[in-house]
Amino acid sequence: MSAATTALAALAEAAVAGFGRTFGRPPTSLWSAPGRVNLIGEHTDYNDGFVLPFAIDRHTVMAAAPRGDRRIRVASVFADGPADVVEAAIDDIAPATVDGWSAYPLGVIWAAGRLGADLAAAAGLDLYLVSDIPIGAGLSSSAAIEAVVAIAIDELWGLGFDRSTLARIGRLAENEAVGAPTGIMDQSAVLLGETDSAVLLDCRSLVTQVVPLGLADEQLTIVVTDTRVSHAHATGGYAARRASCEKGAAILGVPSLRDLTVDDLARASAELDDETFRRVRHVVTENDRVLATVERLRDAGPGAIGELLDASHSSMRDDFEISVPELDLAVEVARRVGAVGSRMTGGGFGGASIALIRRSLVEPLRQAQEQAFAASGHRAPEVFEVVPSAGAGRLALPGALPGSLPGEETAR
Ligand code: ADP
Ligand code: MG
Repeated sequence: MSAATTALAALAEAAVAGFGRTFGRPPTSLWSAPGRVNLIGEHTDYNDGFVLPFAIDRHTVMAAAPRGDRRIRVASVFADGPADVVEAAIDDIAPATVDGWSAYPLGVIWAAGRLGADLAAAAGLDLYLVSDIPIGAGLSSSAAIEAVVAIAIDELWGLGFDRSTLARIGRLAENEAVGAPTGIMDQSAVLLGETDSAVLLDCRSLVTQVVPLGLADEQLTIVVTDTRVSHAHATGGYAARRASCEKGAAILGVPSLRDLTVDDLARASAELDDETFRRVRHVVTENDRVLATVERLRDAGPGAIGELLDASHSSMRDDFEISVPELDLAVEVARRVGAVGSRMTGGGFGGASIALIRRSLVEPLRQAQEQAFAASGHRAPEVFEVVPSAGAGRLALPGALPGSLPGEETAR
């Protein structure tokens, strides 16, 4: 078994055991959803542009069993403490009645109803969640918890939604029940991801396409360096970038920056102030890089996308100005160690970088990052490999099928 399969099997065992301890009976089904990393396409989502995330080999696993009383009890473990259990009647769940972490799972049930599910006949459920996706680290533990609940109720309650609709349900829950104004990238990645593939999402049409990465064939892998830096001005910085993009689009007379190409940049430079122009140039060139990445993956394989990753980082550092010294250092170190390409990933002002690198260089990269961060007086980073993996799915209950591996994914 690979390390990832072992980790998923351990989560499955933990979910089943925790369910038994908490609810005093065994679960009847088991579900998993991965976290995600964005390969390229940053700050393009709210400009109606393109993103290219992939699902990773870190998961939220949920054990479930039906109840006869139309009530939901949902439990989750945080750190090593006891499980936190929240209870609600299905008919009472609404954005105004949910709060804290349970707004995510309960919000999904509400959102399914809003997008057309008939919940009148739905049985109650006991749910127990475990996860090895770090929470709040930018790997989208939020989309994972949404997706794992969405696929489970879809099948257990016979709702018949397709995966794109389940992604919309997750986003609606996050926007309305949690109150976080996020796009649909994360949910699309964790619901539609496939092994050794990324998901191209057109944020305007919401059309998605699975894009094979071909990392395995080329002995390449992706290493995340989480700087563990998060800046207080991230929210304000994000709002300011959005405002600049809207201003640029308005002055240039287009509905959104998606409607511009690199050929429009000369005109943009003449009509915009320097700062707005550089914000616009990032978005326009980043959209171009996402599409170029997809083309190069198809025509030449992952070894050919390095310069696009590098250019994406420079654009975020110099034009969009959302990098920080720790991210620039992580990217520089990766290049020095011999990465094919490297860039910061996520919204910026802290967070993580990714490096596309030969498998044999993972350990040298880890050591180099740790040494460089220590030498610069930065807090030690978390350096770990992520494997582009399958999206959310049902798992076999450990021991349920003689001869099968616990945690083995069933057909979708
Ligand atoms: P990220 O998605 O980057 O991990 P977010 O702030 O978007 O960070 O989402 C994290 C929040 O999602 C947590 O604070 C918690 O409320 C909820 N959450 C995520 N995973 C779980 C889980 N396994 N159990 C309970 N709540 C979770
Ligand atoms: Mg999130």
